Amino acid sequence: MEDIRFVPNNHGAILSLNKHRKRLLYTINLICIIAIVPFAILSLIHSYIWLGVCLLAFVATLVINTICVIQRGREYFHHVIVMSFLIAALTLAVHHRGVGAVFWVFPVVATSIFVLPMRAALFFSVTLTASVSILMFMEMTHTVAIRASLSLVITIAINYVVVNIIQELQQKLRRSSEEDPLTGLSNRRQLDNEIMAVLDTYTRDGHSAVILLIDIDRFKTINDSFGHDVGDRIIQSVANAIKDNTRKSDAVFRLGGDEFLVLLNGIDWSEGSVIAETIRSKIEKLSEPEAFPVSASIGASVVYDGADKSAWIKQADAAMYQAKINGRNCVHIYQDT
Ligand code: GH3
Ligand code: MG
Repeated sequence: MEDIRFVPNNHGAILSLNKHRKRLLYTINLICIIAIVPFAILSLIHSYIWLGVCLLAFVATLVINTICVIQRGREYFHHVIVMSFLIAALTLAVHHRGVGAVFWVFPVVATSIFVLPMRAALFFSVTLTASVSILMFMEMTHTVAIRASLSLVITIAINYVVVNIIQELQQKLRRSSEEDPLTGLSNRRQLDNEIMAVLDTYTRDGHSAVILLIDIDRFKTINDSFGHDVGDRIIQSVANAIKDNTRKSDAVFRLGGDEFLVLLNGIDWSEGSVIAETIRSKIEKLSEPEAFPVSASIGASVVYDGADKSAWIKQADAAMYQAKINGRNCVHIYQDT
């Protein structure tokens, strides 16, 4: 999943800082060095000093930023500085070289949206287009200026529509890969990260945590007797009962079938057993007296020194199994014998 992530990263650009973004940054740097540096030197030779200086300043700040992003995860120069050099260079290029230089504006506008935060890319594209268009209206025939400006505006508009669609699709894809469609709870994919985070907090700060493993009792019988629709409805009601009796800081997962896992953060075993008992009794109240009973068996396991993810879950699973043996519809807390 990590590899196909094209969702906004923490500063909002469409490509998150994964290997795609790195690859794109390498490519952009390579293209800039190969295409812009000779052009900058040529500009200096032809006495277009400011054009040469702006181009070199852009390439230098871009390369420094890329190195910093890859090594430290953060840019050194704010992107406004980098982009200001580029706007100035492209406007000067159009001024000195005429309409031929306008062709360079198109790939720059198209690329900006992939490497800059959405708003910054829009601001940059509009500023660049405005700056180049004003110059074209001042220095070229109006027919050329209108055509070039309009095609730039259309390029920006299409860019944004397409990128918005990609972002929406990415969010949907991410949600569907992380969320159980029946209950809206997180699925197994999220479990590893959450448990690892809780184990880290325990090791670092000693914050206790409890896993509850909840399995609906004799669910096959409900399915067989009343049909899958009723079964699905019960799974949803049980999920809601669990959510309603846990805090926002806790994490609830549907592991599959009629099994749920709750990660109670900052909770010790005595508080955990009270919460487990509350959940059990709320699930019991979902029973329809004339039709079918609903209940669940709950296994609880408190975090311990040296715990690893799968061993901790296994303990909760063993406790849940013990709750089934004890007659179901009860809570059993794992104890190391
Ligand atoms: P136990 O008390 O020992 O847990 O008995 P059980 O009948 O609940 O046994 P088990 O937990 O193994 O049964 C799970 C059943 O859940 C089996 C499967 O048919 C059913 N199931 C799995 N996924 C779904 C689902 O999405 N919807 C419905 N309605 N049923 C499902
Ligand atoms: Mg069951």
